[in-house]
Amino acid sequence: MNFSRPFASPAGSPIRELFPYLSKPGMISFAGGYPSPTLFDAEGLQDAAQRALGDVAGSLQYGATEGAPALRQALAHLCETRGITCDPAQIMVTTGSQQAFDLLTRVLVEPGTSVYIESPAYPATIQALRLAEARITEVPVDADGLDTAKLRHILASVAPSDRPKLLYTVPTFSNPSGVLLSFERRQELVRLAVEYGFLIIEDDPYGELKFDSSAVPTVYSVGQKIAGEANPVVYLSSVSKTVAPALRIGWMLCAPEIQRRCAIAKQTSDLCTSPLNQAVAAHYLAGGRYAATVDRAREEYGRRMRAMVQGLRDELGSQVAINEPRGGMFLWVELAEQVDMARLFQAAVDEGVLYVPGKAFFTGDVSAQSMRLSFATPTVEQIGEGCARLARAVRLSRLSVPAA
Ligand code: PMP
Repeated sequence: MNFSRPFASPAGSPIRELFPYLSKPGMISFAGGYPSPTLFDAEGLQDAAQRALGDVAGSLQYGATEGAPALRQALAHLCETRGITCDPAQIMVTTGSQQAFDLLTRVLVEPGTSVYIESPAYPATIQALRLAEARITEVPVDADGLDTAKLRHILASVAPSDRPKLLYTVPTFSNPSGVLLSFERRQELVRLAVEYGFLIIEDDPYGELKFDSSAVPTVYSVGQKIAGEANPVVYLSSVSKTVAPALRIGWMLCAPEIQRRCAIAKQTSDLCTSPLNQAVAAHYLAGGRYAATVDRAREEYGRRMRAMVQGLRDELGSQVAINEPRGGMFLWVELAEQVDMARLFQAAVDEGVLYVPGKAFFTGDVSAQSMRLSFATPTVEQIGEGCARLARAVRLSRLSVPAA
């Protein structure tokens, strides 16, 4: 079969490829970014589903491509609680925030379009950009998020034709690095976007899952302050990590000219996000239980994160460099010693612990001495045991024995 060029020999998701290992008995998984099922608000969702099904004509029929008015209203209100002023008409509901990025890619990216991404980056973004045949430039992330000084340097040194059309980042508790972009860098990022004329795609599925009370405004609201109507930021978010991924409810906040084109792209994709799921989400958000559900998640994920940091420090000490995340679901681990990464992965599977190798988060064929661990799904007990297993695997895979 002659497949289209991007699909002639495509690479699948490096994370989904790990799924078969999950069925191994007793496996502890630090791999997927799955919310803990113990945190799903079953009672609240059952009630919301009952209400949604009570409106047969509304919930079981096709709906508007941009989304159901009640949900757009509820999401605009949610945005307000995040410091974003917006009108429900500016919100477009998508089938997960994953679809929002896909629509943007279809609308804005052609083969050869220059796109910048944070590095390490969310693999599905790399995958979507590769399929769109974008020219990808990676901008490094450090403990304060995307390195805007390096970004300024890159922008100043490249030819105008190599400047980006888009820059993709998860500025708040990033997947995979877990880091939080500092306020100063948020401002600098917006200033650079205005100066060099690119769009910032702010992907924010984790922002509400913070473990302390400190608040950093979204890049979108910084953009509103600095650039007003000409805000260069497109904001994406989702209820997957806070309510339930199965709802497949995400949303996008952007300029009308972008929204209109994304709506046309969505018409040929799924016509509209499931009206039944939209109604469930709208009733759930209006039902008053959302804040408490998020608070429970923040508390539990904070507890699990601390257990993982402690477990790694106890078991591996200075052999790993970690940044304690202030929110989200992920811990990025750099190995201090040279380790055979292929051997480490196999040893970890044999020991019964799964993680995502760091190389999944870069575009090149790098031999990254790193891994992404998620603390969201395993219990505190499993996290302790998983860290012990991981430490055994690291010891088995060292390339050099440290001097006595
Ligand atoms: N962006 C990031 C950074 C994510 O981690 C995820 C989920 N893993 C998504 C987008 C997709 O989320 P959704 O379920 O809303 O499609």
